[in-house]
Order: sequence, then C-alpha cells, then structure tokens
Amino acid sequence: MKEQGTGNTTFQHPFRFPKNADGPFYTTGQPSKGSAQSAAQWCGNCLWCGAPEAEAPELFAAFDETYTDTYFVRQPQTPEELARAIMAAKVCCVSAVRYGGMDRNIISAMGNNPELCDYIIGPDQSLKCTVGSDGKLLAFARSIVDEENYIKQLRNHREK
Ligand code: SF4
Repeated sequence: MKEQGTGNTTFQHPFRFPKNADGPFYTTGQPSKGSAQSAAQWCGNCLWCGAPEAEAPELFAAFDETYTDTYFVRQPQTPEELARAIMAAKVCCVSAVRYGGMDRNIISAMGNNPELCDYIIGPDQSLKCTVGSDGKLLAFARSIVDEENYIKQLRNHREK
C-alpha cells in the first residue's frame, strides 16, 4: 500500500484493525477466532477511555453506545492534524495507536520509538522495520523498548 503523498510504503501490520482508514496511522486490534475477514468481529486494543480521541477528535471514529473501538476514520492532512495524531499515539497506554509509514520526520517526532512505529531510524541512518510477520516486535526492537522502560523506571524511582 502506498503512503498518501509521499511515495513511500506503509507497513501492513497483521493486527491492523480493519476499520482504519487507509494510510500510515492506524490502531491495532484482535480478530475473534476464525473471523479475520469480518471487521465487525474484531475487537480494538484501545477501548473506552477516549484519550486518543480527545487528542484528535476529527481523526478518530466517535464512540456510540454500540461501538467502542478506537480507529482512524481518516489520515491527518495538515501539520496540526499530524501533531494531534502523534499525540494520540503517545497517550495510548497500550501503544495501540501506531505509525506504519517511512517518513523520517514523523518517526523522529514519535521518538524513533519501536513501540509506536513500524519503522525506526537505525544508528546507520537506514530505516529498520520493527515488527515481525507475527505482529510482535523483533528482538532488536524489543530490547530498545525494554531498555527505554528500564531507564524510565530508574528515573521514576530516583524522583520519589
Ligand atoms: S489510551 Fe489506554 S486506557 Fe485509554 S482506551 Fe487506549 S488503551 Fe485504554
């Protein structure tokens, strides 16, 4: 799939929630058994609290009493919308709002973080895919995330 306007490709995450609008920003979900083809039978990984929707209400589906999954109804079109989409990814506590594109500026703005990005910029400046075909982080990406979390824990511990 082509990323809108850039000519770059967008990673097709195996757990991309099917209702997301085509494009690099998306949310993840889980199909119920044997129902991978039916969007109605998927359950989004990000549900209910509304934090991502509060950051970028124009980009996400509105909740109603029958449907509570978080997903993009359209991709960001302006720098302001892009900033809000990035914030929405940062506030999701289970990293279910992701960026699958290859725009280095966006990847940098998201912290070059494998927890949020399907590609990160490696030490040699090349783009590296962070996710395996099973939807799990690859070992190198997992170790970056673990190290970041360890540093955060240490910082929190020192601040107490
Ligand atoms: S931001 Fe966290 S708590 Fe809120 S809906 Fe998403 S996953 Fe749940």
